[in-house]
Amino acid sequence: MIKELLGILGILVLLFEIYQCLRRYWLRLLLEQRKKEKRTRKPDVLLPKSEKDCRFCRAEMGKRTEAKREMPESWQTCKGRGGRKKKIQTEGYFCPNISCEYYGITEEAIHALVGYGKHGKQEDIRDFKCQACGKKFTARRNTILYRLKTHSWLIEKILWLMALGVDASALEEVFGVREITIRTWLCRSGMQGKKLHERFIAELTMVHVQLDELWTNVKEGSQDMWLWVATDVKTKLVPVLQVGGRNQEVAFSVVHELKGRLAFGCVPVFSTDGLKHYFYALTAHFGKWVSAEGKKPAWVLLKDFVYSQVIKHQRRRKTVEVERRVLVGEASSYTGRLCQAGLSGRINTSFVERLNLTIRLCISKLIAAPGNRRSSPQN
Ligand SMILES: [Zn+2]
Ligand SMILES: [Zn+2]
Repeated sequence: MIKELLGILGILVLLFEIYQCLRRYWLRLLLEQRKKEKRTRKPDVLLPKSEKDCRFCRAEMGKRTEAKREMPESWQTCKGRGGRKKKIQTEGYFCPNISCEYYGITEEAIHALVGYGKHGKQEDIRDFKCQACGKKFTARRNTILYRLKTHSWLIEKILWLMALGVDASALEEVFGVREITIRTWLCRSGMQGKKLHERFIAELTMVHVQLDELWTNVKEGSQDMWLWVATDVKTKLVPVLQVGGRNQEVAFSVVHELKGRLAFGCVPVFSTDGLKHYFYALTAHFGKWVSAEGKKPAWVLLKDFVYSQVIKHQRRRKTVEVERRVLVGEASSYTGRLCQAGLSGRINTSFVERLNLTIRLCISKLIAAPGNRRSSPQN
């Protein structure tokens, strides 16, 4: 009797074990099938936009390009011989009088500027005079030092310390300059920096441009803002830096500015994250109108335009999978062009993400909240 019972018990245990094994096998099959389904899921088909969709392009279409002004005759030949010999260097300065024929001309050999004494209590500030129109002006015009009475050395020192992260109130304590004054200087230097950026970051030839947006929590959490950054992998230059919402309008604005800074005919390779706004903004700016007979002109993407995306799939704030895909153009052309320029040829956005982290470290306002997903680096 006991033997029979033990036999039945043994059979039951065996059956249970077999059931467990089968269950595990079935679950594994099911999981693999689901994974496969996920992988084969096709990405959304995105339709390219045209320049008509960009508000900034539309605004520019109406404007006519200004005709290039002819260079006037050199003042040295106009005025004839005679007079005192010019001793003060005036190269790089120009007459600020719009109605003067030498307005905006910085060449010393052509413009009519001469030194016109000095002024200033703290230090000597050079003055100039335009002999053609008689306009007098200071050498500090159009700089952040214009009409400031403080010594330029002190202003430079304070702005430098502020850039290194020293608090304005601490600077007030040490240098005896009011905080409000320091903040005004900072504002002025910011505006001047923007002007310099616009003047010198132009006609660029870039190879691989990576774009990304960096989450920032300004105004103590009342507003979610994003810092949009574009960088060239080869030169590490940052041609565009904009603050705004995470929407299509700002994406158009960023790419529009980027295109304006490129040399004529330069079409770099682009990499971004999976945000759709980039696709629409890039396709709206790197195409041309092609008209066939009897048909309306169609917007066609440029042959050299290659665009790839790096999409990070995350689970519980951890990157579990990195998907890389070429959305526009051939993958071989993408790799080929990058290798030709001496780069690895891999689809990545790591350079702009590294730059984002550096920007975040340098600007206290951009310090991320714990666990913010935008701060995770990628290889
Ligand atoms: Zn545009
Ligand atoms: Zn003048």
